[in-house]
Amino acid sequence: MGLNSFFTSACNYKRVAAVFIMLFVVSCSEPRDVLYKEQIFVFGTIVEINIWGQTQKAKQAAAVITEDFRFMHQAFNPWQGGSLSRMNEIFPTKFAFSVSPTILPVILESKELSSQSNGLFNPAIGRLVKLWDFDVATLDATALDSNLTLNKKIEKRTPPDPKLISDLVLKNPTMNNVLIEGISIRSDHADLALDFGGIAKGYAVDMAIQTLQEFGIDNAIINAGGDLRAIGQRDNHNWTVGIRHPRGKGIIASIEINQDESVFTSGDYERFFEYEKKRYHHIIDPRTGYPVEDVISVTVIHPNATIADAAATALFIAGPQQWHAIAKSMGIKLVMMIDDKFNIYMNPAMAQRLTFEPNKKFNITLSPPL
Ligand code: FAD
Ligand code: MG
Repeated sequence: MGLNSFFTSACNYKRVAAVFIMLFVVSCSEPRDVLYKEQIFVFGTIVEINIWGQTQKAKQAAAVITEDFRFMHQAFNPWQGGSLSRMNEIFPTKFAFSVSPTILPVILESKELSSQSNGLFNPAIGRLVKLWDFDVATLDATALDSNLTLNKKIEKRTPPDPKLISDLVLKNPTMNNVLIEGISIRSDHADLALDFGGIAKGYAVDMAIQTLQEFGIDNAIINAGGDLRAIGQRDNHNWTVGIRHPRGKGIIASIEINQDESVFTSGDYERFFEYEKKRYHHIIDPRTGYPVEDVISVTVIHPNATIADAAATALFIAGPQQWHAIAKSMGIKLVMMIDDKFNIYMNPAMAQRLTFEPNKKFNITLSPPL
């Protein structure tokens, strides 16, 4: 029915009033059935804020989160003009100074997680990470493929001088070389520099979820380049998220999120170059100073994104032999690892959570329960 005929033939006073009131109610209340989306390029990746319903609040919360992410991006940069880079300049002097309140929680958490991982997760190897220098992703048209994901392959690179690598490995700075008393911090190791590339995204995601909850938002996903934490539901259905296939496009499996969970994957495809037909990537074994060779991806599910992020990095380095013991020591209950021969290792509880893509065959080894 056109507007004209509505008002001339069918119209009576009561009906118009009812329609008017209905329109008024709809325009005054928040539409609850929309997905609010915002994207921002930080930490060398695209972070997506997805909020289901509550559009007005969603816009306000996303603005706060965006500002926080920009601040953290600067503060956590190990070498360029933020709090952490200033700390990394002072550490070699061994003088004590006041720790940045933004960085302190991540240092404390990293000390704990590093110790639980037997030093495999070791943010104190900032100099070694810098020597390999994988942080080259910038946001320009060529950095994005058609699915709006970043191309992580770095062209024309060679591995660093082996002598420089072995020197830094021998020096072996660890998180125990970071000494904290109240707000005073110092290092007793001249070669220590902190790099939070393996945990900062998780921490930022946790902070963003906390902000959403303070705004009273119950249903959302913060997705930092495929690493995410999801809360609540979408349209009364659990969120379902995919785990990226470590080779090629698409996903390898999907997971239904249980109310509030983080899913973090460390992969050899995130930052890498090839030299003489060998892949060199950004996850460095502190024991050798070289990228880990026999693993291509590790996925961890955990309620806390900071822990999930650090654990995925640590278990990647632990490899097929040690992942189970290190996961136990870190209190991780859900793990999947894919090795370089495409064997999949996981604990039984993880196997129950995953739905693998059809028509793809995998050699799966189940571990004892975690
Ligand atoms: P993860 O497995 O979670 O972490 C791998 C990262 O952890 C490595 O890149 C390294 O930084 C660190 N690491 C390596 N070995 C170890 C180890 N044994 N123990 C502990 N940590 C280890 N990248 C860019 O390309 N461009 C940018 O502009 C850029 N800006 C950034 C700004 C900030 C503040 C931060 C924190 C990171 C930035 N990065 C940037 C780095 C990029 O985001 C990292 O590659 C990313 O954090 C790694 O996440 P991941 O999930 O891929 O791998
Ligand atoms: Mg990580």
